[in-house]
Amino acid sequence: MAGRGTSYFTKRSRERQAQFSNPFVYLREDLEQARIRFLEEPTEGIYSGVFHRPWVKGRLLNPVICVEQDDSPPKVEGMTDECPLCTADDDPRMQFFIWVYVYYLLHPHQNPALDKDPQAPKWQAVKVGRGATATTMFRQDVNKLKILLGGPRLKDEIDNAVAAAAENDATLLDADYRFIRHGVPKSSETRYNFVAIGKSSKLRDEVTKVIDELGDIADAALEGTTSFYANVDEAGESEEPEETEEQEETEEEAAEVGEEEAESESKDFATL
Ligand SMILES: [Zn+2]
Repeated sequence: MAGRGTSYFTKRSRERQAQFSNPFVYLREDLEQARIRFLEEPTEGIYSGVFHRPWVKGRLLNPVICVEQDDSPPKVEGMTDECPLCTADDDPRMQFFIWVYVYYLLHPHQNPALDKDPQAPKWQAVKVGRGATATTMFRQDVNKLKILLGGPRLKDEIDNAVAAAAENDATLLDADYRFIRHGVPKSSETRYNFVAIGKSSKLRDEVTKVIDELGDIADAALEGTTSFYANVDEAGESEEPEETEEQEETEEEAAEVGEEEAESESKDFATL
C-alpha cells in the first residue's frame, strides 16, 4: 500500500463507513439481541490475535494489532518493531474475529435518536417470547455482513454453542442464532450467549450471496491496523472522519467482551 497516503485511507474509511456504519456487531443494553448467522465454522479455526483498542481524541478506534505481543504480526507500512500503543501503556488482549450475517437487532427500547431527530428511523415493535414471558422489543433491520469481535470470554460462549449444536448432530452453520447480551451498560458482570433458532436451517438467498463473496477475515480484521499506521503521524490533524455516538458507545462493549470473569449461574433461555 506504499504511496497511497492518508487521504486514500480517509476516503476509504469514509466509504466503508457508509457501507457498514460499523463493521462490528455490538449489543449495548441488557437483553438486547441480534439474529445472526455464523458464516464460518469455528471448529475449523477462528482468526485471532493480540490487539489494542486505542482511544484517539475521544474516539475508540478499530482494533490495532500489537506488534510486540502478537505471535505473527503482519508487515504494515509505518509499523516498527516497537509497539507505540504498548509504549503508551495501553494493554492489548486476545481478540477473535468471526464473519456473521446480521439480520436485525432487537432493542428493549425505541430508537433513542428519535428524541433529537423526528426523522430518525422508527423501529418496529415486535413481541418476543410467548405467554407470561412475552415482551415487546423494537426491531432494527440490519441485513448486512458484520464481524463478531470478542475476547476469550465470548470464545467460551461460542464453544458452548458448538457443543450444544453437536448434541443434535449439528454445527453452528446449521441454524440462525440469537446473540444475546445480559448486563446493563457498563456492568462488569455482562455476559453474552447464543441460542439456536428452531426451523432456521435453510439459508436465505441474501446470505448465500454474502457467503459466495466473503473476503478474508484476516484482511478485514487488520483494516484498523492499516489505517492506524497510515494515520499515526497525523493523529493531531482533523483528517479523521467525524464520529457519531455509535463509536463512542463501543468503549464499554470492547471492555466487557474481552474480560474473563467468572461466569454467573446459567439460565434457561429456551423461551426466547
Ligand atoms: Zn502493543
